Amino acid sequence: MYRTHTCGALRLQDAGREVTLAGWVQSIRKFGSITFVDLRDRYGITQLLFDEALNRELEDNPLGREYVLQVKGAVAERSNKNSHIPTGDIEIHVTGFSILNKSVTPPFTIQDDTDGGDDLRMKFRYLDLRRNAVKRNLELRYAVSRSARNYLHEHGFMDIETPFLIKSTPEGARDFVVPSRMNAGQFYALPQSPQTFKQLLMVSGYDRYYQVVKCFRDEDLRADRQPEFTQIDCEMSFVEQEDILHMFEGLIKRIFKDVKNIDYTEQVERMSWEDAMWNYGNDKPDIRFGMRIANLKFPAYAFPGKKPALAEGLPAEFKVFDEAETVLAIAVPGCSEYSRKQTDELTEWVKRPQIGMKGLAFIKCLPEGNSDGAFKSSFDKFYNEQQLKELAGAVNAQAGDLVLILAGAEERTRKAVSELRLEMGRRLGLRKDDAFKLLWVLDFPLFEYAEEDNRWVARHHPFTSPKPQDIETMISHSPVITDAVKYLEHPYARIKANAYDMVLNGNEIGGGSIRIFQRNLQEKMFSALGMSRDEALHKFGFLLGAFEYGAPPHGGIAFGFDRLCAILGGSESIRDFIAFPKNNSGRDTMLDAPSTIDEKQLEELSIALRES
Ligand code: ASP
Repeated sequence: MYRTHTCGALRLQDAGREVTLAGWVQSIRKFGSITFVDLRDRYGITQLLFDEALNRELEDNPLGREYVLQVKGAVAERSNKNSHIPTGDIEIHVTGFSILNKSVTPPFTIQDDTDGGDDLRMKFRYLDLRRNAVKRNLELRYAVSRSARNYLHEHGFMDIETPFLIKSTPEGARDFVVPSRMNAGQFYALPQSPQTFKQLLMVSGYDRYYQVVKCFRDEDLRADRQPEFTQIDCEMSFVEQEDILHMFEGLIKRIFKDVKNIDYTEQVERMSWEDAMWNYGNDKPDIRFGMRIANLKFPAYAFPGKKPALAEGLPAEFKVFDEAETVLAIAVPGCSEYSRKQTDELTEWVKRPQIGMKGLAFIKCLPEGNSDGAFKSSFDKFYNEQQLKELAGAVNAQAGDLVLILAGAEERTRKAVSELRLEMGRRLGLRKDDAFKLLWVLDFPLFEYAEEDNRWVARHHPFTSPKPQDIETMISHSPVITDAVKYLEHPYARIKANAYDMVLNGNEIGGGSIRIFQRNLQEKMFSALGMSRDEALHKFGFLLGAFEYGAPPHGGIAFGFDRLCAILGGSESIRDFIAFPKNNSGRDTMLDAPSTIDEKQLEELSIALRES
């Protein structure tokens, strides 16, 4: 037997027991004629004591870091206890040992605070995985998966695998493709998600499906994306949106309870997509804090029916505002005393290329009684005290607040103010890792305009159903956008989808929709997306066909499993929660993949590489 206990198991009440342990040498400390060794495995660390007699044996068989060691000995109470680790009251008085394997010196220290940089740790990921920090993340990941599986099983969901080698039907992201040797010149694609399969399973009557499943998307890797990632993918039949929202907020609440011991008893908030954009500037608002956007000026086409925060509009005094399409502001609590240096720094912050604004205007709402007057702004030359006061009032600023104002083109300004709001929330400590706030964002637009192709694309995916009241608009209008009609003025821009996203702390953790389940409507949808009949049949004939054999009403959702784990683990990076992740260029530096393949393999696949 290699071991009687793990390195995390022994306690004071085991004192006197003869035990055998096996693990990795974490550290070696010599004190005169005795040696202490910390032995580590997945379960913890146990201190070993080699006395004088064994020390001589050690001299003949020296140990090194990361050696695999087996020891026999007796559990003894430690004189110098370590309260930081569960085994800290005891040590093993070693009576015999055997080196099971040696290790070369590892390229970085295998400790919580390692000296290894990112690249090195990825190249030697199998060593990195020995570190506690990474191990804890994988344990959390497993706990989340177990909790989700238990909940879904208890609610009658069935785990059904779907294939990885499928047909390429790029819609949304780019497909990864796999050449078929047996069908020269033909390719499979790796699924971007099991979307059509889960819908087919509904047609087949498996009315509650789930899968914890890999998805593959050949996208340019934006920050913290992986070309292969995992979803908790779910689908249900005979459901309306409300049923799905109810079922899956239950799932996330259960995960909170099982994994973090959090009782999330409050009602999950809901917000329309339009209100999210209007009040927070993005479709996944972090609602752990307020600081809502005041819409001082905006183009009517973007928000028909919404009113500007100042009923009369902005006074026409200041060119920067007057010439801008959109002027948006937030009131940052308690920051009216910001120094020149601080406001300059914020101005530089919004001018960074990622934010892309030309400048930042501000109003300091000084606490009353200040001899400088109650309002001070960066545009005092243009607005008088009364105008500043009215403006601050429209932003709902209180005495002591700093009003930050951005002006520019609609999309960029809204995005920028949203980033600024998040940044200020972070700086003020309003975005704590251990506070969790869920939100459903509902009523997304069905379509999005793709400028490069001058056509509509599905905002979620082409299987999402329009709101019943919008079907007529979709059917009766041509999708064509003429020069005369700006895309935002096209009736399609107003069509809403039966789609929903679940947002946690400002991150989209899941999204789904009620699906189209009639062939007719699905064909209309394809044609609205600019697909010819032939193209639709070529790409999705199987689904259109299936819809003719009694497809039930259905809908579903998929959660981004890696992201969910990262948020629950209080980390920004999903890579930390994936055992073997790719780097930012989509490379596995440990395997050195992707890589070239042999001429012989290419030949078998009937592939000739182009000269570049
Ligand atoms: N398949 C969708 C996605 O990957 C999710 C869904 O609609 O269920 O985003």
